[in-house]
Amino acid sequence: MLGAGRKINCPQCGSESVWSVENPCRPFCCERCKLIDMGAWASEAYRVPVQESTDPLSESSPAGEAS
Ligand SMILES: [Zn+2]
Repeated sequence: MLGAGRKINCPQCGSESVWSVENPCRPFCCERCKLIDMGAWASEAYRVPVQESTDPLSESSPAGEAS
């Protein structure tokens, strides 16, 4: 039983969806939810540019490693 009809919740509307090859819109329950979610994601991505700001609190910069 490897993911054979695993039940999940649609991230868009919360309805019960099935994660299987029979559901091409997974993890969404239907194509509409899929499009809505992708559209929302795209619009937000456009609206808010990626801010890879150099946050000093971020642990992404290994500064101070010098010895
Ligand atoms: Zn849905």
